[in-house]
Amino acid sequence: MDKNRPVKFRLRVDIQCGLCGSLTHQQGESLPRFCPCCGGAMERFCLRCQKRAEMYFEEWWPEDDECLRTYSPAKRCSGCNAILEPDGNNQEPGYQN
Ligand SMILES: [Zn+2]
Ligand SMILES: [Zn+2]
Repeated sequence: MDKNRPVKFRLRVDIQCGLCGSLTHQQGESLPRFCPCCGGAMERFCLRCQKRAEMYFEEWWPEDDECLRTYSPAKRCSGCNAILEPDGNNQEPGYQN
């Protein structure tokens, strides 16, 4: 754990689309599964080991008590390290859940 992390801080979460690069501010509790801008899937599925790759995030602190996280789709599988290509067939605008 980070010893310098304050006990109380504001957490802001943005999600960056791996296809069009647009930033989405997180709405609600869960991360969006599709980009509202281009409809591209945010989730990646490894074809080699059949595992879902979790999104990764980078964290930085613009203020002492403010944390900004930017999530992006995983570029490599955490299991087998295969490069994960975005699935181009998954782009169905308006398709949710
Ligand atoms: Zn997008
Ligand atoms: Zn894999």
